[in-house]
Amino acid sequence: MSSFAIIALFLILGRWAAEFWLTRLNERYVLAHASEVPPAFRDIIDEPTYRRSVDYTLAKSRFGNIADAFDTLLLIVVLFSGVLPRAFDVWTGQFGASVGSMAAFLFAIGVALSIPGLPFDWHAQFKLEERFGFNTTTMKIWLLDRVKGLLLAALLGYPLLALVLKVIEWTGAHWWLWAWGIMVMFQLLLMLIAPALIMPLFNKFTPLPDGGLRERLFALAKRTGFPTRSIDLMDGSKRSRHSNAFFTGFGRFRKIVLFDTLVAQLTEPELEAVLAHEIGHYKKRHVLKLLSVSITGSLVAFAAIAWLARQEWFYRAFGFEFHSNFSAAAIVPALLLFALLSGALSFWLTPIINIWSRRFEYEADAFARQTMGEPQSLIGALRKLNQKNLSNLMPHPLYSGFHYSHPALLERERALVNGL
Ligand SMILES: [Zn+2]
Repeated sequence: MSSFAIIALFLILGRWAAEFWLTRLNERYVLAHASEVPPAFRDIIDEPTYRRSVDYTLAKSRFGNIADAFDTLLLIVVLFSGVLPRAFDVWTGQFGASVGSMAAFLFAIGVALSIPGLPFDWHAQFKLEERFGFNTTTMKIWLLDRVKGLLLAALLGYPLLALVLKVIEWTGAHWWLWAWGIMVMFQLLLMLIAPALIMPLFNKFTPLPDGGLRERLFALAKRTGFPTRSIDLMDGSKRSRHSNAFFTGFGRFRKIVLFDTLVAQLTEPELEAVLAHEIGHYKKRHVLKLLSVSITGSLVAFAAIAWLARQEWFYRAFGFEFHSNFSAAAIVPALLLFALLSGALSFWLTPIINIWSRRFEYEADAFARQTMGEPQSLIGALRKLNQKNLSNLMPHPLYSGFHYSHPALLERERALVNGL
């Protein structure tokens, strides 16, 4: 093994060990508070529901540990067994090294690597979620979702890969700047067309029926200067009893979407408060800020790939032959290896991104409070959502600090009441 291969192995095992340790810490913390409802939650949740939330948290956590260990083992085998360079040689021997063939190789590897995880997805949906009464997905919907996902990836992902590889051959040393530009355009285009062309493939969207709720929500949109043409109901209950709300698209294509499960669970003022929170994300330009970070992130990633594609030791570490030219076949191994290895590093950025995300949540909560003129509607909604989704009310502070994109219930309530 080359010294870089050993470093890579340590990075992969380091991520896995850190995740395992954090999860264990959280499990022990949850168990230590499992015997009775903690005093802070006595008015919020009853004993049986609290006990179920503890069971759900622990079941998800234990299953997550097994799935993560499997993924890590699979990654190590794929990277260090020499199967990738061998597949690459067989493929180029069979189909040549043209741009079309190389894009198909990357696509095929992506599909092949997603297959071993399918039984875990199945178990999570039909055993774990089922056991706690959340699953409403049928086997037919589950299979159709996977087929549709694969077709969409082939239809959108394959041409994108081919275009990026073609650009390498066209532009030479500065290929990564062009490739980045293409990715950004693609990402923006996807955001534009997703609400109209992609999301309807998976769910049914119907305008919120006339009546008090519709009038109330449109009045809110108008009052806050939020341009929306439609407020839609989504049949989230087709797959799960979990609930949510979001807005999607931009400009003329913007629409507000409420899960039917959410509408069934909350009162009208609570729904209005949830929508005010979502509008807060828009008003405070959170979407724009997150988008610019992700665009900057992909620039750094492409620069890193272009640099690695010039390092012979990087190729040799995983058994690939090195060619110092700008052909698709010379760069494809670097693209593939980067895609497989980057998770071991980006994992350590999770807490930084989540600190930022939690600040956005506080800002959106404050906006909702200001718009509603009172904090109680949003607090009522948050309490119900935590109950219905059996959220973990007692996460270990280190675990939630690392993994939670939203502040815990008590922290949000405190900020809402104190008007922070
Ligand atoms: Zn939010």
